[in-house]
Amino acid sequence: MITKKVSKKDIRKLLGTWNQECNVIVPSRVDGVVGMAAWDNQDISFLDWYRNTVIPPKSCFLPKSEVMMSFKKNENGYNLEVPTNEHWQVIFGVRPCDARANAIIDHVFAVTYDDYYYISKRRNTLLVGLSCTNPYDSCFCTSSNIDPTESEYVDLMFTDIGDDFVIEDFTGGGKALLNMSNTLKKVTKADIDKIKEVKAASVSKIKKTVDTENADRKLGSLFNDTDYWERISAKCISCGICTFLCPTCFCFDINDEMIRKQGARYRGWDSCSFRSYTRMPMENPREEKWRRVRQRVCHKFEFFPMNLGINACVGCGRCIRSCPVNWDITQVIAGLPAEAGIKSGK
Ligand code: SF4
Ligand code: SF4
Repeated sequence: MITKKVSKKDIRKLLGTWNQECNVIVPSRVDGVVGMAAWDNQDISFLDWYRNTVIPPKSCFLPKSEVMMSFKKNENGYNLEVPTNEHWQVIFGVRPCDARANAIIDHVFAVTYDDYYYISKRRNTLLVGLSCTNPYDSCFCTSSNIDPTESEYVDLMFTDIGDDFVIEDFTGGGKALLNMSNTLKKVTKADIDKIKEVKAASVSKIKKTVDTENADRKLGSLFNDTDYWERISAKCISCGICTFLCPTCFCFDINDEMIRKQGARYRGWDSCSFRSYTRMPMENPREEKWRRVRQRVCHKFEFFPMNLGINACVGCGRCIRSCPVNWDITQVIAGLPAEAGIKSGK
């Protein structure tokens, strides 16, 4: 529900108010790469970036690397210490595609399995969305039924209407954030008209589309077609960038490191694109590259729809923008033979 607006010149004040009560995370450039990081209480240049971050907000719940526990040897065995995550955080600037992606990953870490490390961060988080009013050419969120200016998965949604951001609130947590601030103004009839205009224009700026209708059935019927997958995977170099940056990919690896009787267990991102993936517990069942590429495509467009009734691709376009060999998942989906999976009734 649209209730308030905030002037762009007051955003620093608004975030500052929130930052007194909890950790505010914003889009930030860290070591030259744009991801999400703690706000420095000053810089709001991210408001001019318009588009989604290179590293998605999944990193706030499933960090690139995190300590699961630290341990120290004593005379009876080991002292173990598990980190706690009790602090509240507000993640500001979550794009609608990434908000949907978070909800998809929730199924893995918080619905089908209770992952302490993920849940302890996720449950203490409020998400503040930011409409995409100027998307990349490679964004195709509308093909995943996502509106670049709307989301049911955030607590608040901000939309740029010029000098102000109009704010929609969706949850009690979102309302509580608004109640903390004295910098907000009431929306006018003109603001409501303007936001409708901005939303329609934003949707029309998403030019890239892909028809995902029946993709799951088509992929199912092609699953054992080795020639097809060898052709599709030919130029992939298995660098894993697409999976690391994908907001719905969640594979991880666990390693213990110990020096002089003390150390830590770490969890870090892993990728099904790697030949060495899952080698530690046994062997990678996908030794050949084509099997790994098939896994990635089918994971998004066949297995997730089969198990949860939803595509696990939100159309953020990161894998397309970052692939060093211009491998484009939309070309694969668009190029699926029309009759595959339909004639056979699979
Ligand atoms: S980013 Fe491109 S080259 Fe690297 S694993 Fe993904 S598809 Fe292959
Ligand atoms: S598969 Fe590519 S476009 Fe789809 S959600 Fe992952 S990174 Fe984004």
